[in-house]
Formats: sequence, structure tokens, C-alpha cells
Amino acid sequence: MKIGYYSYVWYNGEIVEWNKATVHLMSHALHYGTSVIEGIRAYADEENVYVFRLVDHMKRFINSAKIYSFNLKYSLDELLKAVVETIRTNNVKEGCYIRPIAFVGMHGIDLYVSKDSPINVAIILLKVGEYMKSEGVRACISSWRRICDPLIPPLAKAGGNYLNSVLATQESKRNGYDEAIMLDLNGNVSEAPGENIFIVRKGKIYTPPVSAGILEGITRDTAITIANDLGYEVIERNIPKTELYISDEIFLTGTAAEIAPVISVDGITIGDGKIGPVTKSIKELYHQAVRNKLPKYSHWLTKVY
Ligand code: PMP
Repeated sequence: MKIGYYSYVWYNGEIVEWNKATVHLMSHALHYGTSVIEGIRAYADEENVYVFRLVDHMKRFINSAKIYSFNLKYSLDELLKAVVETIRTNNVKEGCYIRPIAFVGMHGIDLYVSKDSPINVAIILLKVGEYMKSEGVRACISSWRRICDPLIPPLAKAGGNYLNSVLATQESKRNGYDEAIMLDLNGNVSEAPGENIFIVRKGKIYTPPVSAGILEGITRDTAITIANDLGYEVIERNIPKTELYISDEIFLTGTAAEIAPVISVDGITIGDGKIGPVTKSIKELYHQAVRNKLPKYSHWLTKVY
């Protein structure tokens, strides 16, 4: 995947040059994974740049920090303004990916992270193109199980969680697949390394509940809303692995991946091996909604200029 960078980063309340936005080797997060992150997309049309569901992302960011007792020092309002300021300062007029991060800085080897521990907050912009193959994803069931709430809470979007995602991704690529699907400790479908999952059976849509070790995805919520508005019933319930094989359609949702059809699982073709009608209709509406083409969903957009 190609990644590009912009000149300026928002770092602890100041705009700094890309090359100066650095950390010390003893940063706690580098050693112990003590960071929380967000992944947000902005989309552009001829008139403006729109950040998609910025408030929801920043609320999740604040909640992730709360779970780990990080003292962010910035209010929701300040964080929202910081994102807009960062995009404006870089004079971005195209779609971009926004990465807020809060991490424990110089805290030695002390594992007692408390409200008094030094937290750094940054907002970084990236150029990210297509993240998933638009023609369809060939997925496998990972032998790695998804992290679960009593071990490492998946509801916090914490840096350390992604070690689990890295292992599952490595295994899937090593075996020639595009993407992994992870089961929870009980053997039910959880999510992909960086996406939530939905299946379609007999015209109804199913997705694993929050208790299946998922991150409560904002694209997941968007897909549920759009699907309901299209007249589909969306049911949150446990999905046994085998149900994937006999689904009519499967799709993944995520800020980076957007709405990505899965065309096979473990080499078993899903539906007719192409994007299915339900996935297609949700994907199309999603693409229009994020680009301010549907007034019904414009409340999800924050205008940058
Ligand atoms: N699960 C995981 C593990 C993720 O990293 C992501 C991406 N943030 C998602 C699900 C999808 O979340 P969202 O739709 O909010 O991007």
C-alpha cells in the first residue's frame, strides 16, 4: 500500500514540521504499546473537504483514553478544532486519512500509567489510496483468535491491540490470502484485523455483537444505518464460523477499507464470487454519503473550509 505524507503535524497543541514530529527512544508506548489511536477519513468534492463522522471518532478516542486512564488534556471540542486546523494548515484539498494518537511518553519502565503520567497527543495526516481490492477480498479464517475483553479490551482502539492484528495478517498473506477473519475465544466470528464483518443470508444482514471481541466500528454503524434505510433488517448476533461458508454475501467495513466485499473464505466461493446486490447497494450509498451527495447523511460531515 502506498502512503504519502503532508508537511505539518499537530503535536501537543502546536503545528510542527513533519521532520520535527519525533519521539524519544524511551517513549513508554514504544516499549509497552501504551497508545490509543483513531483512523478517520476526509473526502473532497469540487467545493469542500468533509471529515466523515469526526465527532464519533473523537468520542471513541476519548473513550479509548478513558479505558487506559490517559489524561488527554484536550476537550472534545479542542480535538475537533485541532483536526480541522491540521487539514487547513496543510492546505489539503483532496481526500486524506487522519490519524490521531495519544501515547505515554517519558515514563521509564513504570507500568503504573495514571492520570499523572505524561501523555502526548498528535494528529497526523496521511495520503492513503485504495486499501482493499475493490473487486473483492479473498479471506481465510485465522488460526489466531481475536483478543477479548478480559485480556485486552478490543473496545479500546489501543496500539497494543494491533499485535494481534499483525499476526493474523501475516498468516493470511503467508498463505496467499488477502485478509484474515478472526474468531473470538468461543469460536464465533469476531472481526478482521482492521475491519468489522457482516454476512447476508436470505435477504437479512447479520453482524457479530460487541461481546464478540470487536472494535465498535463507526463504518459498522454507518453500514447498519444505511442498510436499515434501504429496508434491510440488520441483526447483531453470534455467527459460527461455518455460517461464513454458506453466506450469500460477506462484506467488511472500516474507515480505511470502506465497504469491501469478501468473495471467498478459505477458498470457498461466497455467492457467485462477485460483489452481491446487498453489499453493492450499501457500498454505493456509502460512497455518496461520505462525499456530501446525500443531504440525509450530511450531519455526518464536518466541513473543513
Ligand atoms: N476493527 C478493527 C480492529 C479496526 O482497527 C477497525 C478500524 N478502525 C475497525 C474494526 C473498523 O472501525 P471503523 O469503522 O471505525 O474504522
